[in-house]
Amino acid sequence: MITKSASRAGFAAGTVKRLFPGLADRRLHYLDSAATAQMPDCVFEALRGFEIEARANVHEGLHRRARAATEAYNGARAQAARFLNAYSDQEVVFTYGATSAINLLAHSFGTLMVAGDEILLSVLEHHSNLTPWQTLAAQRGIVLRFLPMTPEGRLDLEALESRITDRCRLVALTHCSNVTGAVTDVAPVVAAARSVGAKVMLDGAQHVAHSPVDVRALGVDFYAFSGHKAFGPTGVGILWGRAALLATMPPFMTGGQMVETVTLGSARFRPPPRRFEAGTPPIAAAIGLGAALDWMQGLDWNAIREHEARLTRSLLGGLASIKGVRILGPLDLRLRTGVVSFCMEHVSPEEVCIQLDRKGVALRGGYHCAQPLFEVFRARGAARASVALYNVDVDVDALLEGVQELANSRAG
Ligand code: PLP
Repeated sequence: MITKSASRAGFAAGTVKRLFPGLADRRLHYLDSAATAQMPDCVFEALRGFEIEARANVHEGLHRRARAATEAYNGARAQAARFLNAYSDQEVVFTYGATSAINLLAHSFGTLMVAGDEILLSVLEHHSNLTPWQTLAAQRGIVLRFLPMTPEGRLDLEALESRITDRCRLVALTHCSNVTGAVTDVAPVVAAARSVGAKVMLDGAQHVAHSPVDVRALGVDFYAFSGHKAFGPTGVGILWGRAALLATMPPFMTGGQMVETVTLGSARFRPPPRRFEAGTPPIAAAIGLGAALDWMQGLDWNAIREHEARLTRSLLGGLASIKGVRILGPLDLRLRTGVVSFCMEHVSPEEVCIQLDRKGVALRGGYHCAQPLFEVFRARGAARASVALYNVDVDVDALLEGVQELANSRAG
């Protein structure tokens, strides 16, 4: 494992790659981690350990196994709280992914809003941080406003002042775009929101694979992400919220596990986080996610950032030098992660992916669940390569060779 102490010898992505059983095939150049990242050994071990030694339902169990399952599940909550630098474990709500976390917020926090209240979003949002608010707006007469983006695909924060009004109750923005890779400068957003008494939610789905999160330093009120993008299992995610806010929010889903008492006519709900975890939660997946987040916390993130930036620089430089390739996103490495979307003249994004797949390069192509963003770019989708900590130079080289060959074949 690349621990902080081992980091003095430098970051060796090749060594890290060996910790990922899903990347054992050397012919695979996995550049699709923005869609789903691979899982390290320790996550498989945590899943196996739970399924063999502690598989049982959580919370109300009175036997040994049920207690072990509950302990492991609560342990995962504590691991997530540490990863987020949360004030308390009780601020961590397990959901089924980022989408379900944002829907929870829209359906719960949303009920505290009234007609005419406003939510500030941006044109850069993934559909998961757009459509739940559209639904809420249609149901409750809430007004959605949108921050525009700069020509290079960053949030245009200069527009903050004109788009945020006294009626704004929530600013819900991506922490990092899944298309342009641009990282949001959160401080001015929080300052603008506070000036009108609005809360701030960050969609961290694309940020969590690139370093642990410090919700206190960010100063936000809610943070949502998916486990499978943070080297954990699919089917689990997290909504972090400040305890005082969660306490004011009604449940989104109701049922077992989240009630204190029930009569035929009514129910009294538990305090958060269990108020928001109706039914059997994704127990194994949460435990796997806890292991992934714990593992991440032991890494040297300065070294990883340098490593990812170096690969991203090669990727951007190489793509920019190929005739007919257009990069969607900022080129300044200080403003972005290694999520790199690009369009090729005369080749559809889907075809780029199919052709590159023949060379073992895994990419994603299309609208990336961000159709309004592509309207602004006037592009019919893009191919997207995304760099994670386990990628190595040969992954980037294989991509660039493939794109160059494709460009040559179409040119002549
Ligand atoms: N938000 C962003 C920025 C994303 O990139 C994604 C997934 O790609 C999501 C939200 C939704 O994540 P999930 O499908 O895991 O719920």
